[in-house]
Amino acid sequence: MISIRDVNKYYGAFHVLKDIDLDVKRGEVVVVLGPSGSGKSTLCRTINRLEPINSGTISIEGQVLPEESGPLSELRSEVGMVFQQFNLFAHMTVLENVMFAPVQVRRQKRELARARALELLERVGVGAQKDKRPAQLSGGQQQRVAIARALAMDPKVMLFDEPTSSLDPEMIKEVLDVIVELTKAGMTMVVVTHEMGFAQTAADRIIFMAAGEIVEESTPQEFFSDCKTERAREFLSKVL
Ligand code: ATP
Ligand code: MG
Repeated sequence: MISIRDVNKYYGAFHVLKDIDLDVKRGEVVVVLGPSGSGKSTLCRTINRLEPINSGTISIEGQVLPEESGPLSELRSEVGMVFQQFNLFAHMTVLENVMFAPVQVRRQKRELARARALELLERVGVGAQKDKRPAQLSGGQQQRVAIARALAMDPKVMLFDEPTSSLDPEMIKEVLDVIVELTKAGMTMVVVTHEMGFAQTAADRIIFMAAGEIVEESTPQEFFSDCKTERAREFLSKVL
């Protein structure tokens, strides 16, 4: 589904992603762990080409992502992304937020987009909020709207970059529950998170990054009971 080959990226002289190789199979849930600054967000942002890479290739279902814009927005719309900050459009209602891309990018008929948006908002448990503005919602509700908005484009892959990190503790579970529900529905996902409980139960595979490299790749069982490297042991000793 996603195939990342020998990807390198620099910010000026700083080597932020080093020889990254990663395959994500259809329906697989890959959780990315690692200390702050290790390149997790950058990796996510390169997968949907919010950030250019300096070498290597990234392909989604066999289609190599192009360097330049053009068909890019078409390809990018196949990758749904949810950020730590919800990034909802503040001046639009919840319903308009979810309808926006299907209507503007996919040229869907408004009625069709509206019906689908309402269905998605129900699915993530915020149907009753449809006419409110984002600022009138709790953080957990806003993040669930952001998930519905990403799903409205029928992405082949969902990327989550610390989707619960800016939420109060009581709202974390309601968002994680939605993500777990997506894993059960067979969605292909890459999830950057510091929620170790979620990583242990929901991941098919754990990727551990440090200083721009993939240092370990294993099942959650292996990773949490017997990780291979000192870097990962040190990381786990701080977060568990
Ligand atoms: P965190 O857990 O704190 O979110 P992360 O693993 O997501 O960290 P990244 O945000 O990918 O880390 O950043 C990796 C490194 O690249 C960091 O050292 C960061 O300072 C640097 N970096 C990120 N964005 C830029 C940028 N636009 N320009 C220059 N350096 C950047
Ligand atoms: Mg990050």
